[in-house]
Amino acid sequence: MPLLDKHGRTIVDLRISVTDRCNYRCVYCRTGNDGAIFADLSFAEYLRMVRVFVSLGITKVRITGGEPLLRHGVIDFVRELAKLRTVDGEKLDLAITTNGHLLAEMAQPLVDAGLNRITVSMDAVDRDEFTRITRVPNGYDSVLAGIRAAKRVGLAPVKVNCVLLRGFNDDQIVPFGRFAREEGVVVRFIEFMPLEEDRVWTPQIVVPLAEVVERMSAYMPLRQIDHGYSETARRYVFEDGVGEIGVIAPVSLPFCGQCSRIRLTSDGKIRTCLFSVREHELYTHMLRGASDAELAAAIEAAVAQKEARHHIGEPGFVPPSRTMVHIGG
Ligand code: SAM
Repeated sequence: MPLLDKHGRTIVDLRISVTDRCNYRCVYCRTGNDGAIFADLSFAEYLRMVRVFVSLGITKVRITGGEPLLRHGVIDFVRELAKLRTVDGEKLDLAITTNGHLLAEMAQPLVDAGLNRITVSMDAVDRDEFTRITRVPNGYDSVLAGIRAAKRVGLAPVKVNCVLLRGFNDDQIVPFGRFAREEGVVVRFIEFMPLEEDRVWTPQIVVPLAEVVERMSAYMPLRQIDHGYSETARRYVFEDGVGEIGVIAPVSLPFCGQCSRIRLTSDGKIRTCLFSVREHELYTHMLRGASDAELAAAIEAAVAQKEARHHIGEPGFVPPSRTMVHIGG
């Protein structure tokens, strides 16, 4: 039986945050004052939970955070995940989302451990703008080296995620188009969502998909290509066939109807939506000695309550009390 929610969506994609610590202080994400709030669990504990998720039909696991590469033991965790098999006896699709700061050194060991895919967050191609956003000196070279190392060790196509904020880094749209072509990476622009610590989100700051496509097309025409059913990004290639970009548009073009995702926070709670205002206990059940069957029942009960959609921008919208860095993006 697949893991089905009450809206008929099949849940196959688990995102697990392995820490809410981060070595970057990106202006649109963290205030810069808070570090970790929630306790990390041990990898053995995450592994047991993932095993139960996988027994219910999860086929993709994305490790995130906070910054997942800060967590000692993450490579061994990937190695253990790579040993798991889906209900159909296949290997899991294993991915990491990282800021890339520590990736240059870790790319090869991660691949050796069984990692299949990587997404690196980078919000400016311009070095000074990158520093202004991340508020960390000298990060730019490390991230670029990380992206190149990931390509070299076979993690291609490397995806590079850029969150656009109007008046802040939207001058980077075309430079990122060039970057995608020159570096051979897929650059994906993400619409800014109200998940930041500073609570500065307004609809006006969001740079919508249509505008990204229009501005990029003025640089070089784009052709839209197919995307997978539950894939979040609308995909485009440049007319000469060199370079791909994507736009993830949760605000202007929500994809909740095709959502196949569920999240596990670093302190072991299930979130059925980025914008959930309610979390579901999982680790607490483990602490109380729950069996795997009982954990499976808790997961199924949570999935059954997955929200139909988010309500960003609607009157009465309530942002979740956990912000992105503490949820796991
Ligand atoms: N530290 C890792 C990284 O930088 O990729 C993983 C965690 S980070 C929270 C995951 C992704 O969420 C990053 O690509 C980041 O840019 C994105 N993100 C953070 N806050 C966001 C927001 N308010 N709206 C849209 N994306 C956001």
